[in-house]
Amino acid sequence: MDKKNIDWSGLGFGYIKTDKRYVSNYTKGAWDEGALIEDDMITMSECACVLQYAQTIFEGLKAYTTEKGDIVVFRPDLNAERLANSARRMEMPVFPEDRFLEAVDQVVRANAAYVPPYGTGATLYIRPYMFGINQVIGVKPADDFQFRVFSTPVGPYFKGGAKPIVIKVSDLDRAAPHGTGFIKAGLNYAMSLHAIVTAHKEGFDENMYLDAGTRTKVEETGGANFLFVTKDNKVVTPKSDSILPSITRRSLMTVAKDYLGLEVEEREVYFDEVKDFAECGLCGTAAVISPVGKINDHGKEICFPSGMEKMGPITQKLYDTLTGIQMGRIEAPEGWIRKIL
Ligand SMILES: *Cc1c(COP(=O)(O)O)cnc(C)c1O
Repeated sequence: MDKKNIDWSGLGFGYIKTDKRYVSNYTKGAWDEGALIEDDMITMSECACVLQYAQTIFEGLKAYTTEKGDIVVFRPDLNAERLANSARRMEMPVFPEDRFLEAVDQVVRANAAYVPPYGTGATLYIRPYMFGINQVIGVKPADDFQFRVFSTPVGPYFKGGAKPIVIKVSDLDRAAPHGTGFIKAGLNYAMSLHAIVTAHKEGFDENMYLDAGTRTKVEETGGANFLFVTKDNKVVTPKSDSILPSITRRSLMTVAKDYLGLEVEEREVYFDEVKDFAECGLCGTAAVISPVGKINDHGKEICFPSGMEKMGPITQKLYDTLTGIQMGRIEAPEGWIRKIL
């Protein structure tokens, strides 16, 4: 298959329209059979529920070319399951998980010419999402919904190596106790926009959010979960009902335990103990792990021993092992890699 003429390694993280996207509509209480279409525009009522009351959820995953030349996606069953959980919390119909996988396959196959070649560091980002589309003015869930999957090629997250970032402790909250922090809803991102723009203005790369109830425990950033490494090489990740269950973080915990033989702990992490960790990283699909070099707490700096030049040694091992599994250089646990082409 001929690839598109794109400078893969020079790509950023922006939207580029690809050839086909998948659409399925939910009306009269049932999903239609769904189809690939060419039209990238959506027409809806000015009073659509998504526009008025933000009834919308999404997922994010990547297709990429392995060392052998296969086009694969990583643990898409977990994205299907998470979207179903998001739908339940948002009073939306579940898009059947097997159909979710089939839709992702169809979109990747139809846009295979946009899947970056092995070794470029670029990937085809896949965005499944669902929203309430009919007119709603009195507050209630929509009756009709649209499920869509589009894809866009994105560049390597780290150009010229992963440099540690600097983050700040935010005074704003991302998610309320008993709220929607554990689902992938657009509303959680709307909440975080002011905080991230503020952080960037102040020269920080990201925000660390604390638990909104007590402001003593570490939650996550706007779009990535935390991993910490203790001085005796234990891998620790915060446990909370208002954290989004990152697939990357869950996979890294398995890698730490089963591939690297490290002790792992998912538990409440108090902000007070963060200064005692040896390494810190942010996990998500986009970067796998972004190393954190420093945390700024209202002017007081926590500097991790791993420094500002490179990832800490355990973070690096985790990163190399998981990306090795994804790229087919290291044998994957059963069911982690779905081959599409
Ligand atoms: C999507 C997301 C993550 C990362 O999850 P992955 O499944 O690893 O991509 C982390 N935090 C939030 C708030 C997210 O929306």
